[in-house]
Amino acid sequence: MEIKVNKKIRFFQSIHFKIALVFALLLLITFQIVGAVFVQRLKTENIKEFKQRVELSTYVDNYLINRLSSTNTTKANNEIKSILEDANNENISSIQVVDSKGTIRGEANVNDGSTVGQKTTNTKIKRVLYSGRSLTETDYNRNDGNRYYTSITPLFSSTGNTNTIVGVVYLRANMESVYQSVNSVTLMFVTASLMATAIGMVLAVVVSSAITRPIDEMKRQTERIAAGDYSGKVHVYGNDELGQLAMEVNNLAVRIEDAQESSDSERRRLDSVLSHMSDGVAATDRRGNITIINEMACEYLDVDSEDVLGKSILDVLKIRDQHTLRDLLENQEDILVDMSDAGHDLILNAYFSLIQRESGFISGLVCVLHDVTEQQKVDRERRQFVSNVSHELRTPLTSMKSYLEALNDGAWQNPEIAPTFLKVTQDETDRMIRMVNDLLSLSRMDSGTVKLEFELVNLNELFNYILDRFDMMLKKDSNDTKETKGKNYTIKRDFTKRDLWVEIDTDKFIQVVDNIMNNAIKYSPDGGVITCRLLETHNHVIMSITDQGLGIPRKDLGHIFDRFFRVDKARSRAQGGTGLGLAISKEVIEMHHGKIWVDSIEGKGSTFYISLPYEEYEGEDLWDEE
Ligand code: ADP
Repeated sequence: MEIKVNKKIRFFQSIHFKIALVFALLLLITFQIVGAVFVQRLKTENIKEFKQRVELSTYVDNYLINRLSSTNTTKANNEIKSILEDANNENISSIQVVDSKGTIRGEANVNDGSTVGQKTTNTKIKRVLYSGRSLTETDYNRNDGNRYYTSITPLFSSTGNTNTIVGVVYLRANMESVYQSVNSVTLMFVTASLMATAIGMVLAVVVSSAITRPIDEMKRQTERIAAGDYSGKVHVYGNDELGQLAMEVNNLAVRIEDAQESSDSERRRLDSVLSHMSDGVAATDRRGNITIINEMACEYLDVDSEDVLGKSILDVLKIRDQHTLRDLLENQEDILVDMSDAGHDLILNAYFSLIQRESGFISGLVCVLHDVTEQQKVDRERRQFVSNVSHELRTPLTSMKSYLEALNDGAWQNPEIAPTFLKVTQDETDRMIRMVNDLLSLSRMDSGTVKLEFELVNLNELFNYILDRFDMMLKKDSNDTKETKGKNYTIKRDFTKRDLWVEIDTDKFIQVVDNIMNNAIKYSPDGGVITCRLLETHNHVIMSITDQGLGIPRKDLGHIFDRFFRVDKARSRAQGGTGLGLAISKEVIEMHHGKIWVDSIEGKGSTFYISLPYEEYEGEDLWDEE
């Protein structure tokens, strides 16, 4: 199974970016924390220092307490004014001294005219006069956008054990200079941290590219391996984890190549085994759809492999009506598939077996197709033969039984019937003996135990000899063979002038010719001319025997040499025929590497041909020369 890999990595997803980001964030956070602590501390220190700077010293305070306690107000006010002017500095925006009655006794830096001698309107001053507790606060002035520090300090004169409040000092100072210096430091800090972050990020990209380059290379190499190219190698930069990974990737490529090669050669071997198998083989997937089919299977099923791949095996074997896939999976038995068509017979034995993983999971079926047409035919013929033999033996036996019963029932005493009945039983016995003998010689030939005694024979002479015997039988009035009895024939000979020498088993060959001659006479009730020919072609001798008898129907011509076949059973049996003569003849001629066949027109007559392989024999010429 192939896993889809998204080849394109966007910059934001890359390790490059991630490392740089982590780096930058780390730097930023560090700077933030350090900055925050530092700036906070700086601010506190500055404010503290500022307060120290603006607050009046104890000396001034005592001086003021003395003046406020003095009864000479005008003088005291002048002295207060001069000390306030001395204490004044650029940070202080306003300073007032108010006595315990709330009267303003001195001031400095007050823009809106002198208020000395007037009662104060400032509620905060009044509150401090009243409570005797000092007050400090910072406020923000919207009009000029500055922050101000206000401090109202009560002044006490101590007489004896009692402290009496004699007045307050009101002080207001612009703090903006403190904030400005803190702000400028903060700004510097932010700029520095941003710059450091940017530089850090660039550095991180450079450093991370050193890490990602080998990773990139390995990625490309694994892509090549996946595409089947094992030739490349990853460069090993060092002996760190990435270097070891690179080495492993290289090892992996070698191993995959080996594995691929061995699986390729395995597949080729399997392919060649499959394609050279004499049996058809098809494999299917779990759903029974064909995945592999070999040439032989295609030939058996008369299909193209491209057409059947992916199709259900049930449809391809045309067994969907009789079987389901479940049947095939559950009981893998042999199934006979009849693929016969008008042209030829084909019966296949389909053997199914499961393709199973170790876990027991069934991943498909293998179907082996074996051609059993011949086997089936042989089986059928054997069954047919056994039934034929039993039938052929039963018929004469039943008829003999009935004759013997009749004789037993008293017919033996009847001198007119008894001899006839006995003759019939004797004839039937003879016929059965003939049949059994025929069957025996056929069986011997079938089993290959018959050895032919080949000798070089002049065929012209042999044929003449056989025909002479038939001529003799015809001439003899007293001949009593069934076939020739009372019939009038002429045997015509039409032989080549050349002597044809062939190697044959004389006895067996005479048997064949006798059989054909006897049939010619037997199946020609009206007599006629029997023409016997002997001629040679380039490498064959051909004998033919033509009669003017009943002939053989066209439909039976193909079966005439089958065992027990007779065109007209009743007639043949009446003539003492067994239906085995031509079958034996065929076997004998085939053992001579020859052929036997027939031409016939029903009602007109038949011609039987025998052809034997022939090599021109030069012996005579040699003898002549001698
Ligand atoms: P059978 O013992 O019945 O003659 P054969 O094998 O010799 O058996 O012949 C098989 C059948 O072929 C015969 O029963 C007959 O029907 C047919 N046959 C053979 N020779 C001839 C022929 N010359 N003319 C017509 N039919 C023939």
